[in-house]
Amino acid sequence: MGTLALIKCFSALVELDASLISTGTGTGTILSFTSLPFSPVRLVCFVGWVYLCLYFVQRVQFSPLVPKDYKSTTYVVALFLGPVLLFVLLIVSIVRKSLEGHRTIFEILKEQLQSVSAGVGSLHFGFRKKITLKLLDSSGRSITEIYGHSKGRREDSHVLELTEQIVADALAERASDILIDPKDSLISIVRFRIDGMLRMVQQLDPTTCQAVINSIKAVSNMDISERRRPQDGAFVAKTSDGTVSFRVASAGAVNGEKLSIRVLNQNAGMFTLESVGMTEKQRAIIENVIAKPSGMVLMSGPTGSGKTTTLYAMLNKIDLLTRNVITVEDPIEYVLPNASQIEVNSKADITFAKSLRSILRQDPDVICVGEIRDEETAAIALRASQTGHLVLGTIHSDSNASALVRLLDLNITPLTLSSGLDMLVSQRLVRLLCKNCKAPAKLSQNQLHELRKKNINYRNIFQAKGCDQCHGTGYRGRIAIFDILNLDNDLKADIANNKLSVNQLKNEGDKRGRSNLKKQGLKAVVSGITSLEELKRVIG
Ligand SMILES: [Zn+2]
Repeated sequence: MGTLALIKCFSALVELDASLISTGTGTGTILSFTSLPFSPVRLVCFVGWVYLCLYFVQRVQFSPLVPKDYKSTTYVVALFLGPVLLFVLLIVSIVRKSLEGHRTIFEILKEQLQSVSAGVGSLHFGFRKKITLKLLDSSGRSITEIYGHSKGRREDSHVLELTEQIVADALAERASDILIDPKDSLISIVRFRIDGMLRMVQQLDPTTCQAVINSIKAVSNMDISERRRPQDGAFVAKTSDGTVSFRVASAGAVNGEKLSIRVLNQNAGMFTLESVGMTEKQRAIIENVIAKPSGMVLMSGPTGSGKTTTLYAMLNKIDLLTRNVITVEDPIEYVLPNASQIEVNSKADITFAKSLRSILRQDPDVICVGEIRDEETAAIALRASQTGHLVLGTIHSDSNASALVRLLDLNITPLTLSSGLDMLVSQRLVRLLCKNCKAPAKLSQNQLHELRKKNINYRNIFQAKGCDQCHGTGYRGRIAIFDILNLDNDLKADIANNKLSVNQLKNEGDKRGRSNLKKQGLKAVVSGITSLEELKRVIG
């Protein structure tokens, strides 16, 4: 890329200057050659100027304001006039913000300078972190191999480079999904889901967008000519750190074709109950249950609440060498060494229920059911738990109470439910405040009153602000908060004897569950790792 060459040329200049000093201070021979005496101030100014120029080039690269055709020209302008243009932008931004009111010019200026310095600071890091990767289909063929070595066309290589760059950026930004949507007939947008929130990263013209979509469909073994019917596929990306798998789904939309790509959790094997956010007390409860030879633990929560991650954290706690662990998943998010994993495939008629039935003939100790979503799977899983197996699984529901109601809805009898199920764990993910920019929270009189009433120390409460490192969101990373429902003998008896009506179970259980989650979330707020606003957004 042209920019990289320019950047290399500039870093060479910096090195040259530095070598001049190192050799020059001792002998002075080279200094006489340059005719200028060495001055540390001048060197700092020079390095500062170069950094600011590079920073502006970085800005231009990610700015949707600069059209693609003008990017290379703007890079060159930015390289020489970077700080001047930055200064102009700074003034424009300050004037705009001060016209909006609320704050003094001094405050805005301070904030802007912080943002620029954070950007310059992240510059070196940002370039080093750039991933180079190769997209491969599930049988290991690259795109050029799939297209049959037709690599003569420049257009193709440009599109392939852009596609790889989008995937690489998504990995660098820790995105869980990449969405490519036609916005209207003139523009298509690329968005990343980071920490559960969507963020637009790029705009593409329809022709380029279709070419990017086609290259992803090709590498995912999907039919490129079919643009309306929904299709599924998968591909992998080989990076310097290893291999990452992706799931692709395409569908026809009003203005063209849309694509959603799910990044499978490449780190799932490293998750522990501690790292997902469980308190010591919660960990002890879970560890106690999964150490038993039989029983059933179900994770509940809405989509994207991190159920699967916690499931892997539980599996990581189990000794896979001494216990025969078999999992049924859709899809397999991470390969667990020493466990048998089966992937559900509806096209090949491999369902959760069918796989479970075959698993039970393989003498398992621990069975992990990716998701319980039908009557048959629920029944087999509960029966397995009653016949001496430890069953771990997830169920899609809002809370522990609604998970119980959902199981009853799936025609599980109260007696089976009470004798098979031992524990329900419901969870939510809250975003962590960005450590670089979090600011002490400005609490309203009402909030202060509430906190004092509950006798909560509010001095360490922070709020989101936003900087370049967190892309202005104020948050970076997430942590889970849990509500654990242990089905003790009393509760089991109540369920078995039909003492609790479904409404009672749902209303009372939901209320208790929410208050448990809130209590744990508040602890995270008081310790300054998340904010009151975030807790309200997630739990209400
Ligand atoms: Zn930040």
